Amino acid sequence: MQIDLIASLFSLAVLLILMGLWMLAASFTRDEAHRQQMRLWALANLVMGIAYGLFSSRLTLPLGWTLVVANFLLALAYGAYAVALASLFGQRHYLLIKILSISLGTFALYYFEIIRSDDSYRILLLAGLTLVVWTLALLHCIGAWRQQHSPHVIFMTLTLASLILVSLTRLLAAWYSSDFGYQTLPDFSAIIKTTTFVLILAPPLLTVGFFMICADYTQQRFKTLANLDSLTGINNRRATLALAEQALANQHRHGGDLCCVMMDIDHFKNVNDNHGHAVGDEVLKKLTALMQGRIRRGDIFGRLGGEEFALFLPNADEAQAAKLADTLRQAIADTHITTTKGGALQVTVSFGVAQRRHRDEPLSQLLSRADSALYEAKHQGRNRVVVM
Ligand code: GH3
Ligand code: MG
Ligand code: MG
Repeated sequence: MQIDLIASLFSLAVLLILMGLWMLAASFTRDEAHRQQMRLWALANLVMGIAYGLFSSRLTLPLGWTLVVANFLLALAYGAYAVALASLFGQRHYLLIKILSISLGTFALYYFEIIRSDDSYRILLLAGLTLVVWTLALLHCIGAWRQQHSPHVIFMTLTLASLILVSLTRLLAAWYSSDFGYQTLPDFSAIIKTTTFVLILAPPLLTVGFFMICADYTQQRFKTLANLDSLTGINNRRATLALAEQALANQHRHGGDLCCVMMDIDHFKNVNDNHGHAVGDEVLKKLTALMQGRIRRGDIFGRLGGEEFALFLPNADEAQAAKLADTLRQAIADTHITTTKGGALQVTVSFGVAQRRHRDEPLSQLLSRADSALYEAKHQGRNRVVVM
């Protein structure tokens, strides 16, 4: 075997072990949502490093170690890559197929190479051993690609697809040169040689891709979190107003009506004073869920702060908005909110409704009119809807 191939295999072994250790260390400080997946990938890199270390010892170690054990470890590591990806994407793992194909491939390799000392099908067996696992990893990526178009998932999908293509090309080349077992190893065909080097490059490439996908997911998760109110899980003030601005811009472009409804729980301070802040929080959560269940999908609903909420209704005029507000008001007033420490509580809510007067009315003005209507509802005795 050529010295340059041995040197490459050994360098890759060192690189993979370093990458594995680096990822393991990184998993402690990165987003906890992907910690397990990063650790699995890191472990796979360590195992793969050992596999390539064994490959590079082909001139000194017995065949059982450098072929059967090494290839088993390599397939296992690729299997772990696939499981880490499936888990990251929240998909089924297909663990049984992976373990079965790895075990079967390894057993066949052991049987032909060691028991029968027949190396004529080695490439065929090795290709079979890894192709199933790569194809499953590819299917996981395609599934994730269809869900969301993250550029790094696309990169990973294309890398895996290329890997499978290279592997098939290698198989074809072996077929044509009738060299399924590197019989002419010192000067094996140019295609097999090239594809070997490409396959060697794959693990570091896939590792970089995986790291980028994790970073992508972290960013998306934090972005979503930044838009959500931590207590109720609905849009927070910033997200609500941003979505409202978008709705205003849409109305400016396409016409139609747009209404804003402001809501404020009546005498909410009493709930806190009489039952404690925790019960107040519970009431806020349950009221939010109740209201959320009664609004349309295209409506924008958010918590502006404290016990104050806003609802933006595209394609609704003030009569329709007032009707919806009154339905909500009635539903809330009729509900006994069960709380863990405060028993069943009843609260009422006041509503202020304003329709956008013209297509150039700014959000601040619409909000201010809805707020005046809400103030008027409070002034008139609460638990009512006022339109302005
Ligand atoms: P009004 O009918 O005039 O609206 O009376 P109110 O008591 O609801 O009005 P006020 O604005 O004086 O009090 C609002 C209270 O809401 C004060 C605060 O303790 C409570 N509050 C604000 N945010 C939260 C929260 O996140 N959790 C809980 N439990 N209470 C909150
Ligand atoms: Mg209030
Ligand atoms: Mg208030």
